[in-house]
Parts: sequence; structure tokens; C-alpha cells
Amino acid sequence: MRVLIGGGSGFVGRELTRLLKAKGHEVTIVSRQPGPGKITWSELESNGLPPCEGAVNLAGENLMNPLRWWNESYRKDLFSSRVDTTKTLAQAIADSPSPPRSWVLVSGVACYKPSLTAEYTEDSEWTPFDLLSKLVKEWEASSRFINHTNTNHVLTSFGAVLGRDGGAMKQMLLPFWLGLGGTLGSGGQPFPWIHVSDLAGIIAHALEPPADTPPPSQQVLNGVAPALNTNYEFTKELGRLMRRPTIFPVPGFVMNALMGSERAIVLTQGQKVIPQRTQEAGFQYKYPDLTSALKEIVGS
Ligand code: NDP
Repeated sequence: MRVLIGGGSGFVGRELTRLLKAKGHEVTIVSRQPGPGKITWSELESNGLPPCEGAVNLAGENLMNPLRWWNESYRKDLFSSRVDTTKTLAQAIADSPSPPRSWVLVSGVACYKPSLTAEYTEDSEWTPFDLLSKLVKEWEASSRFINHTNTNHVLTSFGAVLGRDGGAMKQMLLPFWLGLGGTLGSGGQPFPWIHVSDLAGIIAHALEPPADTPPPSQQVLNGVAPALNTNYEFTKELGRLMRRPTIFPVPGFVMNALMGSERAIVLTQGQKVIPQRTQEAGFQYKYPDLTSALKEIVGS
């Protein structure tokens, strides 16, 4: 299978590319920069979709970019980098004389309202309630086709992606090594997470719908580990495996002041997200629990 990956040069894209190539698939990345194995977004717009059987969009300005101050220009970039690239890919698919069989959009669990008690599956209804849930709404809407009939459309909602080479862990490892790790906010909030290798596996699974799936189908898959953990459990397990104390909690108001409350919400509050359809679809997790995922990342 030939797969086109928007934003495939990033943390998740590198893992997905490794997995797809190991399965014998060919990958082309859509990027802002030209290079081997890549096309640019403007080439995609002017030349149309290259031949492919699957397409994924992972492009987006990093929500946790430590080099950017939380302001209007950053918020605008978070939206445009996701919505515009997704629209461009969806349009190229809709205009293609031989569209791919599958089109997968990767978004986040920020669509589900933070709660200590509610449990969300792919069937849970949600309406936007804050900036990040509005972002998910616009992002997902921009991936839909108008009058297109031949491509299966999969929306995947991921929790915090854990892996050695990027995402939240990359920024967390140094303070934890220095013994400065601690819970965030109250610590009791749910912390929906997934190991990057399982995330790549779920996308690869979504790219290969069973032969008896009649297109066009549309489905949602929650991309979180089946274990439900809190921020306290995550912090203590990471500290235990790294043999470091985790005695420096960071209160919610400090997180809000440092990051902006609209963004800090992803760390200081959380949702219990159940990957019901993902499991029903037969996906087998390599890292279903925190201990196995963190051991792979930091060793035991
Ligand atoms: P990265 O931060 O690694 O970025 C992915 C790619 O997006 C980059 O390699 C870059 O490609 C492209 N990109 C970055 N900024 C812009 C911009 N301003 N305009 C256009 N393209 C841009 O992301 P991840 O791999 O960590 O995540 C992939 C997707 O999954 C993202 O959309 C993210 O929101 C979502 N997600 C990630 C989670 C996580 O914990 N990491 C959690 C939930 C969802 P290039 O430079 O080649 O153009």
C-alpha cells in the first residue's frame, strides 16, 4: 500500500513511517520543507493527490512548544496548521480520480469535557466547551468530504502520546531525572495516555479496513490505552521506574500562569476515555498498562 502522511516528519509520523515500512508499505510525507520522500503542501495543492491507497494527517503546530509564549498568534497557528492542512488533504482526496481507500485524521481527546467521573467512549456525544474542544470540532469538520463516496473516513482521538523521542515525555524526563518531578494540579485528574508504538499501530489498523467494509464508512476510534490512570499514578510510576523522588507538586494556578489556562487544562484536568471501538475492532495493544509503557521508555 502507498500511504501519504501529512506532518509525517514529526514525533508520531516517524514512528508511523517506521511501522508502515516494516509492513512493506511505501510512505510519502507532506511537509512544509521539500526533501527526499516528501512533497510540499503547495505541490499537493497544485499537482493534486499522488497515487496512494491511504492518507493520514498528523500536521499541526506543537501545543506544548516551549519556545512560544501563549498568545493570539500561537492560538491562531494551532488552528490554521491543523484546519488548513486537513482541508487541503481532504480536498485533494475529493478531487482525485483514484482516491485512497482510507483517510485517517488524528486529533485529540480534548473534545471530551474534563471530569473526574464521566467515562467517554466513541459513542459519547460532545459539544465544544472551550478553546481546545472548538479546535477539535473545526479540525474534524475540515476533514469531511462533500459529495465523496469512495473513501473510508476514520477520526482518531488520542490522549497524551508517550515515547522516548518526543511529545510530553521528552520535556518531562529532565526534571524527573533531577528529582524535581511531581504531580500536576490536584493529581487526582484522569490522565488519558497511549504509547507512541500503539498509536502508530491504531493508525495502521485504521488504514487497512476489513475487506468487507463497504466504502464510504465513517468511524471514530479512541486512541488511548485501556488502563485508566490518574496524573498521580503516572507521576508515581515514572518516579519509581526512574528511582527518583516525586515530591514537588506543581499547583494548578502555577501551571495556568506558566502555560495559560486554556492550554494547561490538558495537564491539570483530564477525561476518562475508553477505547471501546478500538478494542472491538480487534486492535491488540503492545503497552496496555502504564508500567509496561514507561519501562519501554525509561528502562526498568
Ligand atoms: P509534532 O509536533 O511532531 O508535529 C508534526 C508535524 O506537523 C511536524 O513534523 C511539522 O511537519 C508539522 N507542523 C508543525 N508546525 C506546523 C505548522 N505551523 N504548519 C504546518 N505544519 C506544521 O506532532 P506529533 O507528531 O506529536 O503529533 C501529531 C498529531 O497528533 C498532531 O496534530 C497533534 O496535535 C496530534 N496529537 C498529538 C499528541 C501528542 O501527545 N503528541 C496528543 C494528541 C494528539 P513539517 O515541519 O515537515 O512541515
